[in-house]
Amino acid sequence: MARDAIRIESLRKTYGGQGKAPPKEALTGVDLAVPEGSVFGLLGPNGAGKSTLINILAGLVTKTSGKVTIWGFDQDVNPRQSRASIGVMPQELNLDPFFTPRGALEVQAGLYGVPKAQRRSDEILEMVGLSDKAEAYARTLSGGMRRRLLLAKALVHHPHVLVLDEPTAGVDIELREMLWENVRRLNRERGMTVILTTHYLKEAEEMCDEIAILHQGAKVAQDSTRNLLGQLDARTLVIDPEEGGDATPDAQGVETERREDGTLALTYHANDTSAEEVLDAVRRAGIRIRDVRTEQPDLEDVFLSLTRGAHG
Ligand code: ADP
Ligand code: MG
Repeated sequence: MARDAIRIESLRKTYGGQGKAPPKEALTGVDLAVPEGSVFGLLGPNGAGKSTLINILAGLVTKTSGKVTIWGFDQDVNPRQSRASIGVMPQELNLDPFFTPRGALEVQAGLYGVPKAQRRSDEILEMVGLSDKAEAYARTLSGGMRRRLLLAKALVHHPHVLVLDEPTAGVDIELREMLWENVRRLNRERGMTVILTTHYLKEAEEMCDEIAILHQGAKVAQDSTRNLLGQLDARTLVIDPEEGGDATPDAQGVETERREDGTLALTYHANDTSAEEVLDAVRRAGIRIRDVRTEQPDLEDVFLSLTRGAHG
């Protein structure tokens, strides 16, 4: 059985309120295990607590309580080793404007105590496509280039676990491809465990072996991507009936809802039932179709259904 690259137990974080703001409970007791060698997705809407969790892993935010083990090292018992095991690309573009990319990597390597002979600054700059900007000041770099540099910084100490917080939010296609290409290579060729947060379901679907969903500071689901997506196969055909709209189509596994605007919403599971079968049932019921459109669940629906499930 694979080891856990990261193990999180009963993790809580309450931010102290500033001024009149009340304290904010950002993580309410999260348990999470990330298998070694996986590409692991942390999904959740804005404010779910993803960055808080990531920043606790990175040592940037102090947890309120709970236990965090990185690569077998308890963060509180072996802070140095646990920090050395993980590289984090933060969501915020927090770069010192007076460093060049090469300079920033050398400083970072120094912070982590990487001996000169083991530094691979040029190789890493090459990998993220910043070789020709190696001596440019960070403040002259575009947003995309700064992100590349943040990824490079996360890699200087050759961590076992790479964490990327919303790496593709607001980036162009070229940069997104570069990021995913690098992530796949690091995972496949070096066996690096990768954790990424995103609120793009599609992206998680493409990249991740396993997914955990955070909602309001709590984990509401964790499963292999395949199993999780299996739960998300609900589809809805919305039919505007021309005639026979009072009839109810009868088909197994199809739920019919009559909406106020006079349309019929037929919800089914694409894994079990085809749209063709649903439409057949509609015709059998004597309903003539004036218009039809489809609705697919988005991530928001998934959260809703999961949180409903979680609270009964
Ligand atoms: P996500 O990354 O999933 O969008 P965050 O971890 O950034 O979520 O935020 C979780 C919750 O904690 C949000 O309600 C956010 O407003 C709050 N929060 C985050 N950082 C701070 C902070 N430094 N002080 C107070 N509240 C914070
Ligand atoms: Mg965030």
